[in-house]
Amino acid sequence: MSVIPGKPGSAAAAELPDPDRADGEILVEGLLTGICATDAEVIGGYGEPRGDAPRLTIGHESLGRVLEAPDGAPVSAGDLVAGVVRRPDPVPCAACAVGQWDFCQNGKYLERGIKRLDGYGSERWRVDPEFAIAVPAHLGDLGVLTEPASIVAKAWEQIDRIAARAPRAGQVALVTGAGPIGLLAALLGVQRGFEVHVLDRVTDGPKPGLVADLGATFHHGAIGGLGLRPDVVVECTGVSDLVVGLAGRVATAAVICLAGISHAERGSSVNLDRIHARMVVENTVMFGTVNAARRNYEQAVAALAKADPEWLARLISRRVPLSSWPRALDRRPEDVKVTVDLTQ
Ligand code: BGC
Repeated sequence: MSVIPGKPGSAAAAELPDPDRADGEILVEGLLTGICATDAEVIGGYGEPRGDAPRLTIGHESLGRVLEAPDGAPVSAGDLVAGVVRRPDPVPCAACAVGQWDFCQNGKYLERGIKRLDGYGSERWRVDPEFAIAVPAHLGDLGVLTEPASIVAKAWEQIDRIAARAPRAGQVALVTGAGPIGLLAALLGVQRGFEVHVLDRVTDGPKPGLVADLGATFHHGAIGGLGLRPDVVVECTGVSDLVVGLAGRVATAAVICLAGISHAERGSSVNLDRIHARMVVENTVMFGTVNAARRNYEQAVAALAKADPEWLARLISRRVPLSSWPRALDRRPEDVKVTVDLTQ
């Protein structure tokens, strides 16, 4: 899965040399890679190639089968494995020095398939034990959801910590956006015992049914019409008007987690003074979150293992063979999570 960052139309299936030993001691047969909006952004110019050559192998949502692993690694030959995306900065900063690369302070971290490291979108890849996450065999192909689930596991871990500052009667969560991240955020909310609501602009396709089958409530339309005062919001669309629309519509001491970004400049003009005042008098916390630490991947695997496998399987809405993988970048209305089958 080879691309030239900054060169639209450069996505191609390329013949690659054997993976570099420097990438890690564990040799893996690639099975599946998940595609997300970041991959399109990597091609659009967000990505950075590994060295002087212009091409980068993408694929940061991974699943593979271990071919060789050293003694003492968290996985052995035959096991399913997912790779961690981020590598600590070499300085290292205070956060990277203690394995919290997701909070890297100086931005010198690297990311597989995104920033100066080749990704997992190839028939063979390598990873070091420190960055290899064991996926239970019974999850099978669903293990490809480990990385996106790690993003929401980190989000919920922080929400839990922040929410613990205030006693509350309610347990109502609103998730904005019913893409894979929003649906996984809703899953983790339901697993925590929240009454979960999901807002999206679609009215048909698979998303309303996926939300309902989770035991959550699907909504579409404007945020003002929901008639809810959520204690927790997980924002997964990147649409800032939605965030602005939350002012005055959340519970006292609400926690609003921003997990989505959009590079589209929509230029909304709002009165920030009003939002500022509401946040102060209602003790609101709004915070952003990106990436995940190793323990968040482990939390993700545990959450996936507890979920209904048939529901998770419906998230993987399309599989594209490696030989024609650029088709995975097309956005179709019925898509939820599109994956590339690295064995075909
Ligand atoms: C990935 C993260 C990564 C972020 C920014 C996301 O799509 O899931 O692991 O840190 O992009 O590069």
